[in-house]
Amino acid sequence: MLSAGEGAFKSTRRGVWSIFSHVHVKLRSLLHHVLDFCYPGACGACDAFVEGGDVLCETCDAELEKLANAPACTLCAMPLGSDGAPCPYCHNRGVFPFDRVIRLGVFADPLKHLIHQMKYHGRWGLAEVLADRLADTERAKGLLTETQAIVPVPLHFKRHVSRGYNQADVIARQIASRCAIPVIHAVRRTRDTETQTNLHSHEKRIDNVRAAFALRRAARSIRGKHVIVVDDVMTVGATLKEVGRTLKKAEPASLCAIVLAIADPKGRGFEAF
Ligand SMILES: [Zn+2]
Ligand SMILES: [Zn+2]
Repeated sequence: MLSAGEGAFKSTRRGVWSIFSHVHVKLRSLLHHVLDFCYPGACGACDAFVEGGDVLCETCDAELEKLANAPACTLCAMPLGSDGAPCPYCHNRGVFPFDRVIRLGVFADPLKHLIHQMKYHGRWGLAEVLADRLADTERAKGLLTETQAIVPVPLHFKRHVSRGYNQADVIARQIASRCAIPVIHAVRRTRDTETQTNLHSHEKRIDNVRAAFALRRAARSIRGKHVIVVDDVMTVGATLKEVGRTLKKAEPASLCAIVLAIADPKGRGFEAF
C-alpha cells in the first residue's frame, strides 16, 4: 500500500515523465522534418531518390508488399509454403496464451531495415507508416473489426525516457486512431530487463522477462473485451507471451497479438523451413 506522499510523488514523476516524453518526441519530429527538408525524397529503406514524398521507393514498396502477402499460419503468423498448409512451427496449435498472432511480414529487408531505423535512429514516424500498412492487410482488418481494446507492450520507465518513445505505443495508437479502438495501458514493466536482442537462447529470453510485468489499474477495463496486444517484433515470443499471461488475469473475452514482424527464433532466416 502506498502512503499519500509516495502516491503523490509517483503521480508527479509520471506527469513530469509524460511531459518530457512528449517534448522529446516533438523535438525528434522537428529534427526529422528539418532532415526531410535538407534531404528530400530519400527512400526510408534504401536511400534511393523518391519523388512525390513517398516513404519508400517503388522497389522497396514492392518488396514490402511481397512480405505482407506471403503465406503465413493464421494462428502463429510463421511463414508457410502455401496458404492453408499445415504449420510446422505451431502444428496448428497457435501461440499460447493468444488465440491468433498477426504480422505485417517476416523480419527481412526492407521491413527489417525500416524497423531498425524506427527503433534505434529515432524515426518513429516509420512506426506509423508500418502500422498503417499492417492495418490495411486483410488479416488485420478481420481482427480489428472485432477488437475492443489495444494494449501496447510497455517499455521500462528508464528505457522509455532514453528512447523518447515506445515504438509499440506509437504502432498501437496509429492502429487505434484508424479504427476508433481505445488504447489501454493495462500492463507495466516491474523491472528493467536486459534487451531481448542481446539474448540468443530461448531459455534466457524466457527467464529474462519472467514476472517482469504487472497489471495496472486500467486493466479493469479490458474484462470481457476482445483485446489485442501490440509489439514491433516477435522472435521467440517470450515478451509477448509474458504480457499475454499477465493480461489473462484481467479476464478478457479473447486475446490476440499483432506485430510488425515475425523473426525466425532460430536466427536462420526461416531457412530450415
Ligand atoms: Zn528503396
Ligand atoms: Zn503456426
